[in-house]
Amino acid sequence: MIRVQNLTFSYPRAATPAVREVSFAMEQGQIFGFLGPSGAGKSTVQNIMIGLLPVQQGEVLYRDRTIADLGKDFFDHIGVSFEHPYLYEKLTGLENLKYYGGLFQVPTLPPEKLLEMVGLTDAANQRAGEYSKGMKQRLVFARALINRPEILFLDEPTAGLDPTTARRIMGIITGEKNRGATIFLTTHNMMVADELCDTVAFINEGQIISQDSPRSLKLQYGQKAVKVEYRENGELRSVLLSPDRDEDRTQLSQLLERDMVETLHSQESTLEQIFIELTGRGLA
Ligand code: ADP
Ligand code: MG
Repeated sequence: MIRVQNLTFSYPRAATPAVREVSFAMEQGQIFGFLGPSGAGKSTVQNIMIGLLPVQQGEVLYRDRTIADLGKDFFDHIGVSFEHPYLYEKLTGLENLKYYGGLFQVPTLPPEKLLEMVGLTDAANQRAGEYSKGMKQRLVFARALINRPEILFLDEPTAGLDPTTARRIMGIITGEKNRGATIFLTTHNMMVADELCDTVAFINEGQIISQDSPRSLKLQYGQKAVKVEYRENGELRSVLLSPDRDEDRTQLSQLLERDMVETLHSQESTLEQIFIELTGRGLA
């Protein structure tokens, strides 16, 4: 549905490109995630995809049409949540959504309903300028949903939110997917990428290092082993056993038969461990 091909982008006066030869394809109805540390180029790619930054080299195609081909009504069908929320600070949360909703040529959702979804009902009549950072972020997230967009761009939608609120936002994102939206999501949180994304692209220093489903990535890079804790002669022992090795399988079944096992943990890698393995650096 969306194809990005060989995208390379340099900011004015920058010594090196912020984005280099980035290519990926997004299927309709899927959540495609960009996972990478700060400065990797995630927001730059999003901003090129929504036409905020120009295409310098490469292509961004929506069903084989460029953003220029799509014209102005493109914006009626996308929703964008920015990393750094810009809002009308003197207007209330409710007024911000009412004003924004008025910019669309398509039906929009009631602002009150959106505020309720993101837990801002009590702050509806408070000026956005007085909102905390997390509240502003939730307001911008809610704003992105107002036109029931076909395509959603979410830049770090859970960054800086407390775990309960982050969970709530993740639930809404899943709901948007179930509604049929196609979602581009950037994050430096491996748990968000793992739980939400159908496909994850690792991005580091402007380049995509690897892309696949979270499960395939973990199977490809993780070690296939179980960590077994068992008790022998009153003493707790721990051993790493691989189902690929005959002797390990034998040992595991013996431990199980003799009822010695206390805990079993599969040793699949996390996306962050894989990221470190591939790039030599973490996501923080
Ligand atoms: P991410 O979203 O992954 O944190 P960005 O796309 O914001 O990364 O940034 C990628 C690179 O481009 C970084 O090195 C950043 O410093 C640089 N950069 C981002 N925005 C600008 C800008 N407006 N002008 C110059 N350089 C920028
Ligand atoms: Mg960013």
